[in-house]
Amino acid sequence: MRAGVKLFCLPLCAALGLAQTPAELLKEPAVRAALEAAKQNEPATLQLQAKLCEIPAPPFKETERGREVQRLFEQLGLREVRTDRAGNVVGVRPGKSAHPNVVFSAHLDTVFPEGTRVDVSRQGSVLKAPGIGDDARGLAVMLAVIRALNEGRVETPGPITFVADVGEEGLGDLRGMKNLFGESLKGQVDKFVSVDGTGLGLTDVGVGSLRYRVTFQGPGGHSYGAFGMANPIQAMGRAIAKIDALDVPSEPKTTFNVGRVGGGTSVNAIPYEAWMEVDLRSVDPASLKALDAKFHAALKQAVEEENHRWNNRGPVTASPELVGVRPAGQTPRGSAIVRTALAVSQALQIEAPVREGSTDANVPMNLGIPAITIGGGGAGAGAHSLNETFDPKDSWLGTQRALLLAIALAR
Ligand SMILES: [Zn+2]
Repeated sequence: MRAGVKLFCLPLCAALGLAQTPAELLKEPAVRAALEAAKQNEPATLQLQAKLCEIPAPPFKETERGREVQRLFEQLGLREVRTDRAGNVVGVRPGKSAHPNVVFSAHLDTVFPEGTRVDVSRQGSVLKAPGIGDDARGLAVMLAVIRALNEGRVETPGPITFVADVGEEGLGDLRGMKNLFGESLKGQVDKFVSVDGTGLGLTDVGVGSLRYRVTFQGPGGHSYGAFGMANPIQAMGRAIAKIDALDVPSEPKTTFNVGRVGGGTSVNAIPYEAWMEVDLRSVDPASLKALDAKFHAALKQAVEEENHRWNNRGPVTASPELVGVRPAGQTPRGSAIVRTALAVSQALQIEAPVREGSTDANVPMNLGIPAITIGGGGAGAGAHSLNETFDPKDSWLGTQRALLLAIALAR
């Protein structure tokens, strides 16, 4: 019977590059015990999620929340617990050998500025607070996975390195991941999973982006007295019109957005300065590069036209400053990590929608390291808004899925 099972397993397992399929793993007593623990512990996981959410973690100010995760990593018996130079909190659950080294991460930071009220309120079972799903959920799931592995006494062939990282959101610019893969765990990561947000989706395409702040400047002057002088805001208007007219492919999806503008002195003054923030994105590195070139050409042309229009009087300049770079990348659909994640989901009777996103996994994807992002379960709404909510109905499934995936990948 045993031999028969093994024989039956051969083609499937070989295709996944695994010793056992996730469905077979479910039959192991230690794995079952861990999965049962994850389900039983879910109320405590939800409490932890609320507790972590209530420790403010504004962009660039993740230290306090990081300190609490570090304490919990130590309490859960992780080894080599440390905080790296960027502020990522790292801890290792050793395996029987050094490889494969699987990294599980969740991000510490939120999009909310210092002073935002982050206390959690409850409406029935639904939790409400800024950051409750993104990514307090990921952090709580990651900690619940460690706890369940311990309670089930699961031993894995390879180690699992857990990371609570900084700088995932906005102008954080993935600095935690860039440091992790460029310095603190450079060359040591075989597989990477980020637990980010809610739901049971799976992200295997990392949308790349370039973000600019462009400043337009000129001498400025009186609107009536100095009339005839080039105008930085009008030059910016020309630039925006040109950006708006750019042709971008829908496949691979490539986008642009002028998201914020500002500047000027007074209604009756030719401004000396104006600025805009622009976001360029694509799932394809080459398309992003092409869009970037068109964007720069549009700026240059707009400034030339404005200066020409006013005979180069008080000429205007445009200075684009690159304020964000998210590398694009993709983990192939047919790769072992994606197939394993789908098989794990299927073994738990979870239907996992596969999609693209812009997450911590962009960095390893860009380096060619097998990487995906998964949702932490439950149902979230209003991420990045003050009205963010988390509905914990069946959220234990998200914890179980992350757990079984960790076990399946660490071999
Ligand atoms: Zn997030």
